Amino acid sequence: MDRREAVLRELNLYPLWVRKNQHDPVVEEQAGAAVGQPVPGLSPAARAEPVEISEPAAVSPVHALTDPAGTGPAVPLPDWTGLKQQVRGCTACKLRAGCTQTVFGVGDEQADWLFVGEGPGADEDALGEPFVGQAGKLLDNMLMAIKLKRGSKVYIANIVKCRPPGNRAPEADEIAACLPYLQRQIELIRPKIIVALGKVASNALLGKDATLASLRGTRHDYRGIPLVITYHPAYLLRSPSEKAKAWQDLRMAVSVMAGQ
Ligand code: URA
Repeated sequence: MDRREAVLRELNLYPLWVRKNQHDPVVEEQAGAAVGQPVPGLSPAARAEPVEISEPAAVSPVHALTDPAGTGPAVPLPDWTGLKQQVRGCTACKLRAGCTQTVFGVGDEQADWLFVGEGPGADEDALGEPFVGQAGKLLDNMLMAIKLKRGSKVYIANIVKCRPPGNRAPEADEIAACLPYLQRQIELIRPKIIVALGKVASNALLGKDATLASLRGTRHDYRGIPLVITYHPAYLLRSPSEKAKAWQDLRMAVSVMAGQ
């Protein structure tokens, strides 16, 4: 068994043959309901009030430096060094008081691929790097399945940079406070594609409140950059039967990239 086959086996993606145009409404319906469950989902507050991504809140330092009106910044936008400093020093929302450290993001700062998760968990909070726990191992295998590797043409970031207590989903105000940092990371990286992992990341980037099932399978757009949506690795660990769908999403992302 070669390494690729081993990875695909772990992802429940082997053998690779899948009947085209498979349609099972019952399974799809169940999947739609499943992704609406709390873990990868938004908090009730966020569900009630979709996150408005085009209007940064006035609290994060980077907000003063962004220019949603497009009329030109009053002061220069932060570079990587400035942005990292700002994130490290940020106290714009209540999450900072409860976490060990901020988790900025990791990888190739000129990456073609940007993967966006929800927020740090306990392992990430301890180590200061996104996706280093069990979900991170699965993400690494998902990357390997499409011939990618953390750090090489790949950047990994989260919607919020501080661990929500008890691994709860980030709340709408926390997402609104933190999103400008990710927006600036995206401006600096200029990725060719963004892959949103899970419902929280997808809805935050799209400014929507939709089910993951309704968002998957189409190419979206984030400020001119193709955006593909798939399941959060933590959800896939709990629902391994959905890995085949994640594989479809990854293949779609590869073909979107090939068309760039
Ligand atoms: N889950 C996320 O969404 N991000 C991480 O960094 C780790 C787990």
